[in-house]
Amino acid sequence: MSFSNLGLSDAILRAITERGYTEPTPIQLQAIPAVLSGGDLLAGAQTGTGKTAGFTLPILHLLSEKGDRSSVSSSQPKKRSPIRALILTPTRELAAQVEESVRVYGKYVRLTSMTIFGGVGMNPQVQRLKGGVDILVATPGRLLDHVQQGTVDLSRVEILVLDEADRMLDMGFIRDIRRILALLPKQRQNLLFSATFSSDIKAFASSLLDRPTLIEA
Ligand code: AMP
Repeated sequence: MSFSNLGLSDAILRAITERGYTEPTPIQLQAIPAVLSGGDLLAGAQTGTGKTAGFTLPILHLLSEKGDRSSVSSSQPKKRSPIRALILTPTRELAAQVEESVRVYGKYVRLTSMTIFGGVGMNPQVQRLKGGVDILVATPGRLLDHVQQGTVDLSRVEILVLDEADRMLDMGFIRDIRRILALLPKQRQNLLFSATFSSDIKAFASSLLDRPTLIEA
């Protein structure tokens, strides 16, 4: 099975080829068509399985194919683009890694991305956010700091990803995550990735996901 049979656009396939990948990993084979179908996803996947490309590739495809709804009218000045995909990660290292993947795989599509995490100044992040961001990769605590300051608008998010959800719960982020969820549009696609499935994760997943496709690798 090659990447070209999965329904991804030529622009994305080109970036994959340049990255040197010849065939999708098992998690990618399952996740990419499931995410492209627009439904919710519950994925059991460890680090090292290629899970990051499993969600970033189809997200880049969906957002670039659907276009930017804020610039439909050509007679109006282009408004700054709203955040369309929000990817939450437990740590700044993972956030940086995921955003790097978004940039590599999104090299030939016109979408912008950035990371938001704590331990660094707010201001450079605020300035970047002002320029408009399509895909935001964030740790929950710092994202809420921006929400409180009114420097991030989550009201147009179309796709939410919780990456390493088990670690986020273990690290005590559940309250922060619930506060973030309350700010998102109800109509959206939810993708949850977790290496383990404790009863807490199962309960959380069933409260979040609507008839998800279940995959495991
Ligand atoms: P991840 O599990 O997302 O952290 O990815 C683990 C590693 O596998 C990363 O270094 C990726 O660049 C690499 N990788 C992801 N997908 C593929 C693929 N289809 N073929 C070869 N390497 C891949």
